[in-house]
Amino acid sequence: MSFRGMIGAAVLALLASSAATIAAEQSRSAPKKLTLAAADAPVLSEAAKDMIPVAGRGQISQFGELTRLTFDMSQSVAVTAFVLTDPKRVIVDLPEVSFASDPLKERPASPAKPGQSTAQPNGKTGVILTYRSGLFAQGKSRIVIDLAEPARISRAVVEKKDDHQGFRLVVELALTDPATFAKEASLSQQSMAKAAPTTPAQKPSGSESKPLAESKPLVVLDPGHGGIDAGAHGADSILEKDIVFEFAKTLAARLRQEGKYRVLLTRNQDVFVPLAERVRIARSAGADLFLSIHADILSDGSGVSGATIYTMSDRASDAQAARVAEKENMSDTFAGLDSKEERGGINDILFDLARRETRRYSQHFSNTLADYLKDHMRLNKNPQRSAGFQVLKAPDVPSALLEIGYLSNDKDLVQMRSSQWREQATASAARAIDSFFTSRGPAEPAKMPTASPKGGQANGVAPVLQ
Ligand SMILES: [Zn+2]
Repeated sequence: MSFRGMIGAAVLALLASSAATIAAEQSRSAPKKLTLAAADAPVLSEAAKDMIPVAGRGQISQFGELTRLTFDMSQSVAVTAFVLTDPKRVIVDLPEVSFASDPLKERPASPAKPGQSTAQPNGKTGVILTYRSGLFAQGKSRIVIDLAEPARISRAVVEKKDDHQGFRLVVELALTDPATFAKEASLSQQSMAKAAPTTPAQKPSGSESKPLAESKPLVVLDPGHGGIDAGAHGADSILEKDIVFEFAKTLAARLRQEGKYRVLLTRNQDVFVPLAERVRIARSAGADLFLSIHADILSDGSGVSGATIYTMSDRASDAQAARVAEKENMSDTFAGLDSKEERGGINDILFDLARRETRRYSQHFSNTLADYLKDHMRLNKNPQRSAGFQVLKAPDVPSALLEIGYLSNDKDLVQMRSSQWREQATASAARAIDSFFTSRGPAEPAKMPTASPKGGQANGVAPVLQ
């Protein structure tokens, strides 16, 4: 059997499995959210108990050796807490909870990086440096506390308030020694396996009545970050996860309107999706193109502006590309996943051939995108770069990562918030995608069989291939 023949057989197997995956997906009706006007939770009626629990504003306090993070809660929920190292964190897992206030939106703009910036304008309190909260997976919320010093969890509970007016989530931490902390953290890795998220992607649209094998190319758009991982955070409480989600939705709508593609988003709500899961979504759906969308930030470079297109390379093209890849690859750590990189086992010659071919297509897409985007987007001085982005590691899906601008640059920020600019920029991106598929011709990059969803998983997350 020729190489193409082998690839063809793999494609058929892949399509059959992705059809089953897609058919198995069910749309989820959004549960009603209960909103609180004030930080304090009121006494709730019986009817409200079916709704998503609400957490009020987080409060950090210190009592001697103990540091407490507390939230008023509309109802009692189950709590699981554990510690992780590199960087030192406490992870608190909850069922889906609606957080009434976002600590990220209450702090000055800074590049988001765990263990560096602090959510508390006055710096650390006790052992707590900063914390964040948000949706970690469908039906699961999470609080991640960055620690200033090694700590042990002395209590993590929801208890009745003293006045019996509602409930309170209490996470109580005590200073501990580094050796004890490291031991606790290694035990935690076992807990992580139970808490790993799997978020079904949106069903691709535009192919409902056609057999998948004959259908239109599948474009997977990947809005970066989400949920507990807000990404970069700019002036006026602008969060990268929101800016890029709007851009991805607009581009998806445009591509669907054209009717030439099936379009899949790796997330269709404000939820965290691990980097490896984004790759897995694209591969298992049989994507023909993967475009990850992000926005950059520089703490000391307000003069730097414009969009940049990144592709995958083993060595970074330059220092900026290395910095951006390092920042974007922190996403899982930021959301409280173990920071150890998972390595897959496919390393044979077929894999190398497929990867090399795919990288050529990715480079071609990057060239095309740069060419079209310059009409309506200001491009960075050096708009095409490459580095080792986790999210671009699919060996058989042409992939690129578009940083649509800098949250640290005033002009870029104004543009990124403008719906008119978004319409124009996504129109250019859609034309680039058209041109890519037209110029690509009937040939397509080799498809590799996807890893078994059960095989080789660590922490419940599909493996990232080398
Ligand atoms: Zn990003």
